[in-house]
Amino acid sequence: MAIKWLIDASYFVAAILFILGLKGMSSPVSARKGIVWAGVGMVLATVVTFLTPGMGNMLLMVIAIGLGGVLAWVSGKRVAMTDMPQMVAIYNGMGGGAAAAIAAVEFARGEMHGTVVTLLATLGALIGAVSFSGSVVAWAKLQGVMNKAFRLPAQNAVNVVLALVTVGFGAAIVIAPQVDPMLVGAFFVLALVLGAVITLPIGGADMPVVISLFNAFTGLAVGFEGFVMGIPALIIAGIVVGAAGTLLTQLMAKAMNRPISNILFVPMAAAGGGEAVEGEQKEVGAMDAAAMMRYASKVIIVPGYGMAVAGAQHKVWEMSELLEEAGVEVVFAIHPVAGRMPGHMNVLLAEAGVPYEKIFDLEEINADFAQADVALVIGANDVVNPSARTDKSSPIYGMPILNADMAQNVIVVKRGKGTGYSGIENALFYKDNTRLLYGSAQQAIGEVIQHVKAMSV
Ligand code: NDP
Repeated sequence: MAIKWLIDASYFVAAILFILGLKGMSSPVSARKGIVWAGVGMVLATVVTFLTPGMGNMLLMVIAIGLGGVLAWVSGKRVAMTDMPQMVAIYNGMGGGAAAAIAAVEFARGEMHGTVVTLLATLGALIGAVSFSGSVVAWAKLQGVMNKAFRLPAQNAVNVVLALVTVGFGAAIVIAPQVDPMLVGAFFVLALVLGAVITLPIGGADMPVVISLFNAFTGLAVGFEGFVMGIPALIIAGIVVGAAGTLLTQLMAKAMNRPISNILFVPMAAAGGGEAVEGEQKEVGAMDAAAMMRYASKVIIVPGYGMAVAGAQHKVWEMSELLEEAGVEVVFAIHPVAGRMPGHMNVLLAEAGVPYEKIFDLEEINADFAQADVALVIGANDVVNPSARTDKSSPIYGMPILNADMAQNVIVVKRGKGTGYSGIENALFYKDNTRLLYGSAQQAIGEVIQHVKAMSV
């Protein structure tokens, strides 16, 4: 009795820690603390599970936790910031897979009590299996292991038929008087195929949104399995992940101005490549770029994916500090989908030591570009593409963008004529007030730093 009370109380505390952890993660200032709180909750929930009366296979559990822990620790330490979306995809998929596996075990035991429990287990199995195979495909695409454009003929019809057949098998499991292993097996195969088939045609800029959607799915699946097993901590963790994933998916879709249905069912390329851009790009050297910024009153820096790839955030902050010492006001403008995952730029800038009060969101800063002497765009492309405002044929039409083009001068740091993630040309690079500083961000900003230093002695 005392043990049961201890376990329930611990699950309750763990659930509170998950919620506090999520609250902490809502701001970069408290994010680290939030991760620790949620982690402590997870350790607590895992440890008390061992105390559950009648728990067997202790050695297997310890081996699995040990293996998983070491793998996660090593890969977490090694992963490059730019590979983070793949990592999120695969971990998230494993969560969905685990939820589906719990359901499979419950089916195999044949101890389902009542239709509601069977229904929840089946729903969890379906959503978890879809999330698992979909996330594996997402990982393979982001990792470059799989061809990005794979679309079946009549893809949407195939999706619908497959989904209906899978749900039909699920319904048969729920209403069957006994668990039929063949039926269950076919159901799992169909659900796994469904997840993969839905994800295969999705590519390009939409993939991180899909990962976030699968994240929400995983949360839901885990929550359902929590009901089946009667573990409140699992239910709450699932609901928290499901709600957070849903909100994040909505935010990302809104920031890209693409309804979620559109992301899932209309390939980005099908929307058209936008109007051709005319004119030529005008180059600027590091010395002139340094002078433009050194003698400016206000510089707004727009970091993007290229800054992340180059790992140039430390150099960028060093340059900003030098400019500030020379009396220039320097601030950072972050687009909600700059880089390859939400918060990508915030994390990098925080790592380089940029104070939070210097970092502004799109809504906060967009009106200020008109007063800026220089907008310095570092490895960003789609998030400053003015076609999003004007070109109805552009795949990113309607996506809110940072108004870098409205600054008096625009300096764009990039290596060459590479397009952004959406694969389309950017009219900003051809505008009269834009100059291109060619080079990898780390090296280009390094040269600018040398010139700013020379101008300041
Ligand atoms: P983009 O992917 O649009 O552009 C990156 C630019 O960086 C390229 O034009 C490239 O040009 C340049 N670049 C690449 N390597 C380097 C380097 N070493 N040094 C300097 N420049 C480099 O980046 P944005 O951040 O502007 O936009 C993000 C895109 O990702 C958007 O399309 C967004 O919708 C999408 N996305 C983001 C998500 C998120 O959550 N953040 C989620 C979903 C999608 P070049 O090759 O010439 O150097």
